[in-house]
Amino acid sequence: MFLHNKRMQYTVRVDRPDPIFAKLLLDQFGGPNGELAAAMRYFTQGWAESDVPRRDMLLDIATEELSHLEMVAQTLTMLLKGSPSAMVDEVEGNYLGNLLDGKHERYVELSMMSGQMNTGGAGPRLTDSMGSPWTAAYIDTIGQPTADLRSDIAAEARAKITYERLIKQTDDAGCKDTLTFLMTREIAHQKMFEAALDAIEPNFPPGRLPGNEKVAHVYFKDSIDGQGEAQAPGVALVRGFTDWGFDVMAPSSSSGREPELPDRKPSVESATGSSAS
Ligand code: MN
Ligand code: MN
Repeated sequence: MFLHNKRMQYTVRVDRPDPIFAKLLLDQFGGPNGELAAAMRYFTQGWAESDVPRRDMLLDIATEELSHLEMVAQTLTMLLKGSPSAMVDEVEGNYLGNLLDGKHERYVELSMMSGQMNTGGAGPRLTDSMGSPWTAAYIDTIGQPTADLRSDIAAEARAKITYERLIKQTDDAGCKDTLTFLMTREIAHQKMFEAALDAIEPNFPPGRLPGNEKVAHVYFKDSIDGQGEAQAPGVALVRGFTDWGFDVMAPSSSSGREPELPDRKPSVESATGSSAS
């Protein structure tokens, strides 16, 4: 059951109407990393989750994302209402004709830049900033918590980055304050999903089947750059920053044979975080 609490989660402030910035902000309303996508991602995961603490967290965050959607909608409306209608009011009579005369260049520019003016009547629309309609294809849930939580962490990271880019594109102090709150909440969500992933032991690799031990820790050095194995930057990267102990194999295509792979003791365990694997 949902109730409508008429208070915003955080007070939305916009100092000046700005239809062009509103167009950009649509990314966080109906875009791939926006608030609707976030809410639908976590609701659908939560409704299918049998683990009670994880379900509780997913549905709480999903509900908060709807509150964010409400805040973005309020921001959009405040950015859109006023200036365009005021400009429309400036144009008397057949304003389309006046526009064609080039008398209101600023309004022409705003209209061209801000499609929701024409199609949405200055209300928020379920599109991204380029006008692409919102789609469930933005949600990549696969129904296995160690995979989905990793995707959720990445989704929160993308939402955070999108807010960061938007904050850089407005001088409006009220807008910056609102968007900084929303950006910060995505950081908090990312931490919550990290914690939920850590609570699943083991959580790697996702799923139940362990994989072939012979190739689970092999780095195929499929590049020829004159560097020895140990000096190759990619090898140094995976060897230097994990304790997984990667073996290095030369390019398999050069020998024309299947590479001889080392025997390893089974060390890869399956994640068993869910019955929904
Ligand atoms: Mn959010
Ligand atoms: Mn979030």
